[in-house]
Amino acid sequence: MFLCKKIKIEVSPRDAEALEFMQAKCRGLYNWWVLKLRAGERWNLERAKKSLRESKQYDPELRFVYGKLLAEVYFRLDKAMQAFFRRLEAGEKPGFPRVKPRHQFFTLCYPAMYLKVQGKTIILPTGGGGNWGPKRYPNIVARLTEKPPAHFREVAVSRDARGNYYCSFVYDDAKQVKEKPPHKQGKRKRRTSRTPRPEGIVAFDLGIKMLATGYTDQGRFYHIGGFKGYRWYNKQLDKIRSKRDKCKKKSRRYLYLSRVYKRVAEKKRHKQQDCLHKASHLIAHRLAERAVVIGDLSQRQMVIKKKENETSQERRKRQIRNRLVYNDWGLYSFMQMLAYKCLRFGKELFIISERDTTKTCHVCQRKQDMPLWQRTYRCGNCGLVIDRDENSALNIYQRFLARLGPHTPAI
Ligand SMILES: [Zn+2]
Repeated sequence: MFLCKKIKIEVSPRDAEALEFMQAKCRGLYNWWVLKLRAGERWNLERAKKSLRESKQYDPELRFVYGKLLAEVYFRLDKAMQAFFRRLEAGEKPGFPRVKPRHQFFTLCYPAMYLKVQGKTIILPTGGGGNWGPKRYPNIVARLTEKPPAHFREVAVSRDARGNYYCSFVYDDAKQVKEKPPHKQGKRKRRTSRTPRPEGIVAFDLGIKMLATGYTDQGRFYHIGGFKGYRWYNKQLDKIRSKRDKCKKKSRRYLYLSRVYKRVAEKKRHKQQDCLHKASHLIAHRLAERAVVIGDLSQRQMVIKKKENETSQERRKRQIRNRLVYNDWGLYSFMQMLAYKCLRFGKELFIISERDTTKTCHVCQRKQDMPLWQRTYRCGNCGLVIDRDENSALNIYQRFLARLGPHTPAI
């Protein structure tokens, strides 16, 4: 299967200038097309590609951008348009392709065959040269901080919020030469996955307080806690932002506080991503059960919708909850990680309907309301007392066995 490896690169100030120049020109071309399409122009990939010549006549500076990168702009827009048409047909929210903002780096995609890698050095071509006329920028020589994978297919150059550049290599997992790491003495023993049980089933309930609670066919519970520090980080971030907003825009202190804000935000993001990666890896790689069952999140209404005439208290509650769901929880990226990691480690992932799994008693099937703050399920009918997440995981497990809801393999 295809995997992606993101490696930080080091470039000289002049090469960074070349990257910035090329991404700005690519974004300009992209945005110009988006605006044209929004004004009612019909999209046709072939015709759009042929129009590059005219665009170059209009803006001669496009010649200093590597041609394959410009061609990639049309493919990118085509993908966005096809996705738009598909959503339109499916009756979803259509979401017309959007203009890319100036403060964001427009990712540059290089096809592999035009790149040269020697050891830890990668050469990224720029426009011009030879028959194409003079070159404004020489080819970019970037130093990779890690060894790139063998036989990669495509490389995307991106920049993070703090101005570091990265190359993302797409490669085929099967084509890699397995190097055995030299055995070092005194090093911690490598943890291996347990002996797999092909018949084993584990059902997970995903939640806010506990990232994942699992129940296995052997009657065992797993508890996987999520990222805990978001409250602390949010407090810091809010404080820095409010300090910054009191300064004059673009003043020295304003810029300084912006830098601090970006640094703290990045740290929070990394910690959270790391936590999700570890949790999904644990489920996909280290657990013995072969079938992994989770509830369908699209049926879960975690986000509070804005009401008319809401009180300030309701507004505050909505803001806190939605920030948690959208920014801090990361459950949607967790699902994506879980899906590809299960595929990679040969597990089967099932997504089943999870309607009312928190509300239903797993013993007598009676339903009762369960507000989020209520952590323990106390059944008014049969007297069951159990942790709410464990009850939900049990329901998902039972539903999977009974095939109550329609369930489809995730991939
Ligand atoms: Zn009950």
